[in-house]
Amino acid sequence: MFDKILIANRGEIACRVIRTARKLGIRTVAVYSDADANALHVSMADEAVHIGGSPSKESYLLADRVLDAAKLTGAQAVHPGYGFLSENAAFSEACKSNDIVFIGPPVGAIESMGSKSAAKQIMEKAGVPLVPGYHGDDQSPAILKQHADAMGYPVLLKATAGGGGKGMREVWKSEDFDEALEAAKRESLSSFGDDRMLVEKYLTQPRHVEIQVFCDQAGNGVYLFERDCSVQRRHQKVIEEAPAPGMNPMVRAAMGDAALLAAKAINYEGAGTVEFLLDKDDTFFFMEMNTRLQVEHPVTEMITGQDLVEWQLRVAAGQDLPLTQEQLQINGHSFEARIYAEDPDNDFLPVTGTLSYLQPPEESPHVRVDTGVLQGDEVSVFYDPMIAKLIVWDENRDRALSRLAEALSQYRISGMTTNVEFLYNLATAEPFRKADLDTGFIEKHRELIFHKKAEEVERYVPLATLYLILKRNQDAAALASQSADPHSPWHATNGWRSGSANVHDYPLLINGEEVTVLAEQIDASRFSLTTRGSASEVSIQLSGSLNGSGLHADIDGHRVHASVVAHDGIYSLFTQDAAVQFSVIEPDCGDLDDEAAAGFTAPMTGTIVALPVEAGTPVKKDQAIVIMEAMKMEHTIRAPADGTVVEFYCQPGDLVDGGAELVNFEAAKSESKADSE
Ligand code: ADP
Repeated sequence: MFDKILIANRGEIACRVIRTARKLGIRTVAVYSDADANALHVSMADEAVHIGGSPSKESYLLADRVLDAAKLTGAQAVHPGYGFLSENAAFSEACKSNDIVFIGPPVGAIESMGSKSAAKQIMEKAGVPLVPGYHGDDQSPAILKQHADAMGYPVLLKATAGGGGKGMREVWKSEDFDEALEAAKRESLSSFGDDRMLVEKYLTQPRHVEIQVFCDQAGNGVYLFERDCSVQRRHQKVIEEAPAPGMNPMVRAAMGDAALLAAKAINYEGAGTVEFLLDKDDTFFFMEMNTRLQVEHPVTEMITGQDLVEWQLRVAAGQDLPLTQEQLQINGHSFEARIYAEDPDNDFLPVTGTLSYLQPPEESPHVRVDTGVLQGDEVSVFYDPMIAKLIVWDENRDRALSRLAEALSQYRISGMTTNVEFLYNLATAEPFRKADLDTGFIEKHRELIFHKKAEEVERYVPLATLYLILKRNQDAAALASQSADPHSPWHATNGWRSGSANVHDYPLLINGEEVTVLAEQIDASRFSLTTRGSASEVSIQLSGSLNGSGLHADIDGHRVHASVVAHDGIYSLFTQDAAVQFSVIEPDCGDLDDEAAAGFTAPMTGTIVALPVEAGTPVKKDQAIVIMEAMKMEHTIRAPADGTVVEFYCQPGDLVDGGAELVNFEAAKSESKADSE
């Protein structure tokens, strides 16, 4: 076994690898960029080497710097994690020629799977079923389109060098093909330095089911069952689980065998994942093989009781696989939810900021948190905005799902918008509980998950108001206890006013809906609420108590339990079946953005990629006006109405801050009002 390894990565995966290395008595070396000088992975490692500037191109992607760091510190092996250099054949080759072990598959295997199209050719030969499509070398746009037209729409454009859903575009009709191809190529070029594309038949309701394989240097191979990663946004996974719900054992075995066939076809070694699309009728198609550890590997660890990083280290050191296929068993059920700094209500755009408060749920045999950040850390524009992975386990799916919901409701993050409430709504949605999964799940259940409807929102108003009243009373009591005259009526914030009724006005913004609530205090613990929102006026009586973040309420005799997490003046309310956000509308903060102007501020910090129209040109509603990129994802800003771009305040290549004004746009006078919305 190795004495010392270098981890050529950052964030949660670097920390996770360090944990296993430490358990095995292996010393660790971290590498870091300028932005990561104080990062958790750096402080966890025994040694750390600075390798360059904050953008990954100037640090984590520089093979030479990483190798120099390994040589400098005498590391015998390099663990590449996922992303960055993990699937870079040249890097693996360079390690080898410097007598440093690359903890991953042999160069040939990375090369074979590095291109999605070459991989498909190999798999086709090995008899592994493929999604129908074009994966040829002729890349002229006309040829690509011809294949798409012949195949019939919808089709999916994919970067052959792709990963992480980047450089991927669905095309639903022939007319949209050219614009989609350009965007996919651009995104692919900027992410992978390569803009070759393949065209596939787009399956509309498949599940994403992948098989974890492991092979050793002696030629033994096993599969550690499957993961279902169907719940995705922007073709990127958000919640993964193992085993796949409702999996037929015969199909599992067939997929496992096909995955091992794929691995054997390329003389695989180490950890790998073979991704399949599984159709409603249980037919499955090879999508790609990832020649590294996956982000979602923990769910496999939870159901098999194995440490996959330990397996990787053992195999790389020349040992045999720790277990045979017969010894491997599935025990219970596990979920992983990816906690991201992103705004689900704004097309899941990444957000940046400082984690001013960060308190994950407590870890236990049922709850695991893999993270690379601490309170006070920055989620910067330079790297993936994932804050943590929340992993839960229990003996069956229903119980594991309850664990997931509970742990999500305990996750406290302030300083930026995150997807925690969104994940909670997903985890508590009935179709998810019923495991009615496919890759269109989020789209299909949009209404349910995003909780946008006014009548839905109003159900939470009493709880939100009760929380505010009780919190106010609590704060007042705390203040009073510090005062020289604790019984002075001036400390009371319960609505008591000399000579008037105990009535209080709560103008609330709840999931974007404005609602005004009149709260009247009946006695010490009972209140009467009258709500005036977009739905009809209702009046209810309620009482309750607040204990930390736990809210116990009695609403017209119905007792419920909820929890509320406050952050930066915004409150997240978690009830048994949903999470909502609310805040108190401060007087006079009200000017709602002019709709036409709203689209023209940068939705996030990022780089301007292209300005597809000239200033002064008339444009049609929905025409692309500005193309931005942040965290390697392209975002197109479109005209909200017919009108004219008067002036651009940015140039291609500019780095702009989120909220910065980008364009001076004038909506065409007459139709614009009728058109917008
Ligand atoms: P990446 O390597 O960028 O992650 P994948 O090839 O793994 O890309 O695909 C990512 C996701 O895109 C899949 O999990 C699936 O949801 C969707 N997808 C890929 N190919 C198809 C297809 N042919 N039809 C329908 N969905 C697809």
